[in-house]
Formats: sequence, structure tokens, C-alpha cells
Amino acid sequence: MYALVIVEYPVKTLDKTFTYKVPTTMYSLIKVGMKVEVPFGNSLIHGFVLNIFQKVPEVSYELREINRIVDDELILSPELLEIADYLKEETLCTKISAIQTMLPPGLKAGKKKEKNYTHYETYIKLNPSCRNILITSKGQQEIIDRLKVEKVVHQKEINNSSLKTLLRKNIVIAVKVQTYRLNNQIEIKKEKVLTKEQEEAFTKIKNGFNTSQTFLLFGITGSGKTEIYIKLIKEVIKQNKTALMMVPEISLTTQIASRFYEAFGNDVAILHSSLSKGEKYDEYLKILRKEVSVVVGTRSSVFAPLENLGIIIIDEEDSSSYKQDSYPKYNAKNIAEFRSKYHNIPLVLASATPSLESKARADKEVYKLITLNKRIGSSTLPEIHIVDMEKEMKKRNMILSELLQKKIKEKLTRHEQIILLLNRRGYSTFITCSNCGFVYKCPNCDISLTYHKTSNNLQCHYCGYLIKKSETCPKCEQTSLNYYGLGTEKLEQVLKELYPDSRVIRMDQDVTGKKGMHEKIINSFKNEEYDILVGTQMVSKGLDFPKVSLVGVINADTSLNIPDFRSNENTFSLLSQVAGRAGRSDIKGEVIIQTFNPDNFIIKCVEEASYEKFYLYEMAFRRKLKYPPYYYLIGIKVVGKTYDTALAEAAKVKKYIESHVSEETITLGPTTANILKYNDEYRFQIIIKYRFDDSLKETLKTIEENYATNKSCYIDIDINPTRI
Ligand SMILES: [Zn+2]
Ligand SMILES: [Zn+2]
Repeated sequence: MYALVIVEYPVKTLDKTFTYKVPTTMYSLIKVGMKVEVPFGNSLIHGFVLNIFQKVPEVSYELREINRIVDDELILSPELLEIADYLKEETLCTKISAIQTMLPPGLKAGKKKEKNYTHYETYIKLNPSCRNILITSKGQQEIIDRLKVEKVVHQKEINNSSLKTLLRKNIVIAVKVQTYRLNNQIEIKKEKVLTKEQEEAFTKIKNGFNTSQTFLLFGITGSGKTEIYIKLIKEVIKQNKTALMMVPEISLTTQIASRFYEAFGNDVAILHSSLSKGEKYDEYLKILRKEVSVVVGTRSSVFAPLENLGIIIIDEEDSSSYKQDSYPKYNAKNIAEFRSKYHNIPLVLASATPSLESKARADKEVYKLITLNKRIGSSTLPEIHIVDMEKEMKKRNMILSELLQKKIKEKLTRHEQIILLLNRRGYSTFITCSNCGFVYKCPNCDISLTYHKTSNNLQCHYCGYLIKKSETCPKCEQTSLNYYGLGTEKLEQVLKELYPDSRVIRMDQDVTGKKGMHEKIINSFKNEEYDILVGTQMVSKGLDFPKVSLVGVINADTSLNIPDFRSNENTFSLLSQVAGRAGRSDIKGEVIIQTFNPDNFIIKCVEEASYEKFYLYEMAFRRKLKYPPYYYLIGIKVVGKTYDTALAEAAKVKKYIESHVSEETITLGPTTANILKYNDEYRFQIIIKYRFDDSLKETLKTIEENYATNKSCYIDIDINPTRI
């Protein structure tokens, strides 16, 4: 018997598979999809079995034997192996990197021995074979009496010297039991009764249970989408099937997870990036062992090894976080669609601000559109005010407008809560010297450094470069450093000064870096331990705080000014979503949006809460400029150690593409990328816009294999990038 094994191999574009002999002792054990240890050169490495066969293979190398099966529990299902092929084809990655992406830490294939993440806890019980119980102390007797009643007790509960004596005398024995790190003990709550509108949406999707139909659930903020998800999944579980619930951000996972624990108890596994490696490993095992029917998670949970899937739901489907920015650059929505077809089950894409692509597909009836137009209960959509910051500047209101200041005060006296959005972290976005003009810049990237006051550091938000801030200008040594640009850290400080009695909490990447911080901030704000929540876009989506009656957007122009074809869409979505955090219960909500562009069409659409108006405007713009959803995009970056080598190679790549694509395909560039110098490398960009082009993938593969393959230059291809 022989096995074809794919191994981790350090060549970017090439997969390496080798045939090995299967030792007779493994004949009945080995399966396709298993992780095995094989000899490779002088060392032992891990790989996955892709095929098992009897015929003597014709290979040019000496056949060696598989050393051992690494993990008899982990078997990649035929579905996951097909997904790996799909990923390879769609994103031009290698099959082995696709497989590695699907697996949690501890289960990936590596050259080094993987750390074992299995978690054990120690329990104690009476030794059944011990007849002579000689007791010398009262403490020991107590333990024995307890064990006679309870049989098994967690060692942590007793752990004293009497126990140690009993263990030494072998009267009591310790047993190690594998346990999971995450174990919730939440009581299951009864489900809420759905409104008529929710019930109708539920029924429409339920009617599509045995089809691979994609539904677009377009429901305004606060329309109660989560209750529909829960009811759908309960229905799926009744049919002995499983469900995958995806959310874009970790902060949302926390909130949805607790709703799901309340609905499904221990039948839920959670997968997201802020879990510890051990927790991820445990949650994955729960799924692999078929101990849970529901998985809630962020992007990579789309690879959860759920068998017998019954439904996939993607919440906030327009979020760019479903697309992975790093290799392999996959989009979880595409994988979900693949799985929906594989299992013949519905895929539900939900949002209050659907992506243009999804809305266009719904218009063409490729997706089935379901709308929710009412907020549940007595709540209504908030009132939106736009404030012209140019006028405010003249009144010296640099950060908070008169109206926003007044409203904050008003809400504070009424003990209602406030959310303020500022999509920039740090204290000041740049520091410059008024004497010599010096600006703190990242030496690796073409970008100014952001000042973080708490740590007194200057930080590059692109590559992470960090230096201590000096008191004087590093160039002319004068004490003439000035701080410009506003970040969340400074906003927090300003609020504390302006409203000294208020309790302010901040949520951004800087404070949520520590494990469990998301959860802590969200819970303490929900429990009304704070009055004002300041944050970046992390605070914009999905969060549900009944006491929030005011949402303020400090600078709506931040996302509008990003040079990207999606900046309008992102701005509309961000502002509409954050506005949706206000007035979610019986308190009336208000939203104040500060901008230097009060007449901007997108801002007007937000003010009128008109997705339809925004959609028509933006579609016309995309059609005119040949952007998605009218055209597909491919972004190619040629990255090099020097400006000249990168540019020269990019020009060659462009020439090759132009001579190999169809006439209708448009090739633009090379231009300098948004940030030309990044991580000490220069980046040039070529953009391809196309509608139908059968040979394009082949052309791209050829480029990857033949251009910029030397050490000083490389190519980075992004198919359907979410930003360019
Ligand atoms: Zn200076
Ligand atoms: Zn940098």
C-alpha cells in the first residue's frame, strides 16, 4: 500500500507531494486526510495524506515508509480537501498553505514538533484497591468522607497537606481528565416571540432549507436579525444538522456568542483570533468530535470541520474583514458559497447596509432578497444631525461642535449613554517641529508616526515601528514640537476634562490587544459602569446597548478621504451602522455627524437614512469608472528592495499582461501603491479590470512563476481585492 503525501515546503508557488510506503501495521488505520510524519531528507516532517493506492508507483526517488500517524482524530474531510483545491484555484495559493490556513494552532503541519495543546485537569478519588485505610488525622478523614459521597472531586478544591499524605499513602489516587478551557454554564433562556416581519423572513428562508439558495437579509439596524438566526438554527438542529454563524469582528463575536449560549447552551463552539492557542485548539476539537452543532466565529471559522451542515449565516456581510489581506487572500463569503453548494443548504447574507455586489445580485434575482423595515419593540430610527465643522472652527470648536457638547451634557444629566466614533487611534497623528519643519516619520514606510501618550511612544500603524518621543526636536534640538491630528486617546482625555464627572471608556486596538478586553469593555459599558464609550470603527457594528441615546461621529471625513473606489461605500456603511447604535430601546436616539463636507452626497444619504439613494448613486459611479460590481478587479503589486528594480520589474509584468489578455480587459499602471514605501520595500501596482477572460488565471500563474522571482523583488496578486 502506498500513500501520496503533501508536505510543507518553503517554495511559494509550488506544492510538493511525495509517495511513501505504508507500513503493514498502518493498513487498517491510515485514511485520506490524515496528518502523518514522514522522513524527508535527514529529518522527519509532517504532511497530509491525499491519496492511498495499491499499484507500485513509478517515481524517480527511493520509496521510504511513513513514520507514524500524528493524530488519529484529525482527518481532513473530503469537503475540506476540495475546499483546499478551490482556494488554490481561486487565490493562486498552494494547496498546502490552503490546508494550513484551515487548521488551528497545534494541528497545522510543521517541520518542528508541534506543541501539544491538549488540556488536562486533575481529579481525585478513593483508590478502589486500597483496603487498609489507616487514618491519622481529622483532615484526612474529612477528605475520605467527602469522596465516599461525591466519588470524584477536582483536586483544586481540596489541595492541602492532608490530601498530599493520602495521595502518598495511595489511599487516594489522582486521575488526569482531558477538559476544555472554555466551558460556559449559562442557563438556557426561552426564545423570544418573533414579530410578524421577523416570522415572515424566517419562513422564507426555512422554505429554502434543501436548496443552495443565497438569501440577502436586508434589515435596518435594530430590526432583530439575531432572533431570526436563532430560530433558523433551532430548526436546523431539529433536523439533526449543524450550523455556522459568522460575524465580522471579535467584539461582535462576544455579543452574539452570549446570545447563542443563552439559546443553545453548551452546543456552541467559538472561533476567533483573540482566543488563546489552547482555547482555539479545544474549540476545534469540540467540532471535530461532533460535540457541538453550532459554530460562531470570525473569518477563518468558515473552515470549521462541521459535518452535515444545515445553514450558513454571515452577519454584516458587507464587512471587509471577511476578506483576508494576507496570503492566501481568500474571501470567506466565497468559501461559504462553496460549502452551501456542497451541502445543498441555504446561505444567508445579512446586513443593514449590504455590499453593492450583494445588492446587485439580489436585484438580478441571483440572491433572494428579504427586507426588514421595522425596528422591533417601540424603538424607531434615530434622528440625524449634520454639523458643518468649518463653521465650528471659526468658533474655535476644534474637536466637539457646540451641538455635540450640548447634547452630551443633556444625555449625561439624564443618565443615558453616549458612543463617540473617531476612526483614528493614538493621541496625535503627527508631530512636527515649528522651528525646522522636522516631521517624525517611519524609516521603513512612507508615513508619519502616530503619538501614543500613555506609553510616550511614536508608532507606525503600518509596520509597528516604535520609538520613544524626545522632549526636543531630534533635528534642531529646540523645544518646538507641535502635535497635530486627533486620535481616540486624545479625545478620551478631552472628554474627561470637559465632563469631569462622567465616566469615559475607550475601545480601540491599543486597549483591546490584551486578551478578554473586548468582552470586558462591552460588558462594563452594557452594565452602565461608564457613560461614554469612545472608539474606532470597532464600536460601529452590531453592538446592542439599550441605554445609548446619542451617537457622535467626530470626523466623518476620515474614511471619505481614503483614495479607494470603495471609500463612499465604506463611509456610508460606517456612518449608517454607528448611527444604528442609538435609540435601540424605548429611549429616542440622536446622531450627530461632524464633517467638513456637509453637502457631500454620501453624507446626505446617511442623513436621510436612504440606502436606496446611495445605492443608485454609487452604482452609476461604479459603472462609469468600470469598477465592481460591473467589472472584476485584480490587484498586482510588484515589491522590491529599491525603487528602480521594483518599477522596472513592474513595467515588464505590465507588458506581459497586456499582450496576453483579451481586448476588453483593461490593464492600468504601474503606479505607486497607496503607500509607496512599506516595511522598507517599494511597491508598484498594476490593476486589471475585466468582465470575462478565460485565460486570465493562466496568465497570472505564468507571471507568478516567471517574474520577480529573485530575492530583491516579488509579486503579490490579490484577486477581487476589497481595497486598492
Ligand atoms: Zn526642529
Ligand atoms: Zn512603518
